[in-house]
Amino acid sequence: MRGNKVLDDIKNYEAGLPIELVVREFGIDTKDVVKLASNENPKGTNPNVVKAIIDGANNAHLYPDDSFYELKEALSDKYLVSSKNIIIGAGSDQVLEFISRAFLSEDSKVLMTKVTFAMYEIYAKQMGATIIRTPSYEHKVDEFIASYKKHNPKIVYICTPNNPTGDAISRVDVLKIINAIDKETLVVVDGAYMEYASAKDEKYKIEPKDLIGFSNVIYLGTFSKAYGLGGMRVGYGIANLDLINLISKLRPPFNITTLSLLSAIEALKDEEFVKDSIEIHKNQLKRYEIFAKENKLKYIDSYTNFITYIFDDNIDSTQISNSLLKRGVIIRNLASYGMNAVRITVGTEKQNNRLFEVLIEELSNAK
Ligand SMILES: *Cc1c(COP(=O)(O)O)cnc(C)c1O
Repeated sequence: MRGNKVLDDIKNYEAGLPIELVVREFGIDTKDVVKLASNENPKGTNPNVVKAIIDGANNAHLYPDDSFYELKEALSDKYLVSSKNIIIGAGSDQVLEFISRAFLSEDSKVLMTKVTFAMYEIYAKQMGATIIRTPSYEHKVDEFIASYKKHNPKIVYICTPNNPTGDAISRVDVLKIINAIDKETLVVVDGAYMEYASAKDEKYKIEPKDLIGFSNVIYLGTFSKAYGLGGMRVGYGIANLDLINLISKLRPPFNITTLSLLSAIEALKDEEFVKDSIEIHKNQLKRYEIFAKENKLKYIDSYTNFITYIFDDNIDSTQISNSLLKRGVIIRNLASYGMNAVRITVGTEKQNNRLFEVLIEELSNAK
């Protein structure tokens, strides 16, 4: 049976491979698998959140508060915006989906960098829209403005820091792009890794309150990365009231679970956990930079919780990723993004030790 024709051209999102697959396929013990492929927080789940989930489990028969009052209040305090300016999604992914459905049709175009988060393309194609990419994988102001003028896209995606490359664009440059764009084009600023960029360099810190004055800009954040709640599926969008009201029409009722809601509220009470995660991360990231230099690998300066290594022609990213996988180390091959590169989530000290050990051997096998 044939589906909607816009679906013909869509490739499924290639998620980081699960631990279970490596256990099944290669007979490796669960405890020996090192998963560095999905940019999860290696510090694990916040123990306070674990307690909140256990305490809340008896209420699993109840629907959550569909207004998400407490969570929105907490986000409102954190970001100094009104709770009316916030929409909650099952991951910021779901907010991306609302946005796509609210604005795109078969004659729309969307603009993004050459290499960026794959879901922008997938959600746009679901609506039959056309994808336009800038020539560089980095967000270059001139390229964005030139492409915008040429194609008049309905949505412009700015992913900063960018996944899967790890680079970022400064606040000043983001504002330059926004200011060059007409109010009938929506600008999405996806800050999934903003906590890491802000900690690295103030110039890259973009806050929703910097953007909320624009009628055509939405900021996205998530609990999946620095807050360590990837499995709970909670994200949010922050924008001016009209925009929030418009995309809220697409939100299904109770779109995050009772326990997800509790988790996110609890996580926001413990900013120390996030600070700590970032401190540990900084030190471990340095080791990845040193490893790259020692092994003559190119890498992209990272503003995120992962690092991207780019290989010369004599090394094949697919081969390297597969040989690591067979040894229980899961990283993300970027061949499907058109790059001979791999993206590695910076893990715990122990996980990183294992990664270095295996990667060094497989690099020398490959040559
Ligand atoms: C992880 C990620 C998201 C959203 O993740 P959710 O788990 O759906 O909140 C959004 N954008 C980028 C760039 C990401 O890497």
